[in-house]
Amino acid sequence: KGPDPDMGAVNERMGCIRKKILVLSGKGGVGKSTFSAHLARALAAQDKTTVGLLDVDICGPSIPTLMGVASKSIMSVTGDGWSPVFVGESLAVMSIGFLLESPDQAIIWRGPKKNGMIKQFLRDVNWGEAATEAASGDDDDAKLDYLVVDTPPGTSDEHLSIVQYLKGSGIDGAVIVTTPQEMSLLDVRKEINFCKKVGVKVLGVVENMSGFVCPSCSTKTMIFSPTTGGAEAMCEAMGVPYLGAIPIDPALAKSCDRGKSYFEEAPDSAGVAAFNHVIDGI
Ligand code: ADP
Repeated sequence: KGPDPDMGAVNERMGCIRKKILVLSGKGGVGKSTFSAHLARALAAQDKTTVGLLDVDICGPSIPTLMGVASKSIMSVTGDGWSPVFVGESLAVMSIGFLLESPDQAIIWRGPKKNGMIKQFLRDVNWGEAATEAASGDDDDAKLDYLVVDTPPGTSDEHLSIVQYLKGSGIDGAVIVTTPQEMSLLDVRKEINFCKKVGVKVLGVVENMSGFVCPSCSTKTMIFSPTTGGAEAMCEAMGVPYLGAIPIDPALAKSCDRGKSYFEEAPDSAGVAAFNHVIDGI
């Protein structure tokens, strides 16, 4: 197979982004999209920082709901690519969810079609607009500061194509989300090895759903694992940074369902403090 003729266009588009972060998980349902959405929100809350959030979880796009923009659709293609959906001034979102006729529509695609869609996202979404809008007239410097990419669970063909497409313009690294269960940690080892193999730096591992503190008696129960520290020990053994643990918090699940920011809905919670600690470590 010869070189991909579209690579030049992908590199050109992706070259307009300062930092690209992939969010990975070994399994589904561990909070990967929740983490991606809140990482994007936290970065966009920084002064003069523009952020794109790209959902390439083609078969289960949950970012539109998480960001409170599920009713939006992308109908037209403008002269310079697809315009993403804005959440506030400095945060732009793109997901296949915006292209579906109804949220219940099932996407049953084989690998090549999914890979084609991913390439199209990377080549055709005009993130520059996000940057331009927030740069208040300073159009010449229209670059997006961060692109957070929410990937499908596991290490699939799609992951290989994302890495392949982004390599030319540089990937800053990957954050891996897991729960404390050994079942999930096993798959994280695979994710770490995948990153090592394809040359993507592991920025760190986050242990999500790590214990629940009872609001009445303050007892902490490790719902998913009798012990704590599994992810941390694994990180040490595999030589990658451990970013910290985020507890189970019904307020987080609720804000996700409502498409709201957990940071704004429960600002004084231990979970928000834990989230901030994790994000500071990236
Ligand atoms: P994934 O992207 O890994 O499939 P999601 O981010 O969609 O997982 O999360 C799965 C579900 O768990 C969602 O309903 C989400 O609101 C919930 N959830 C994620 N993290 C937490 C947490 N720390 N506390 C409570 N609920 C959570």
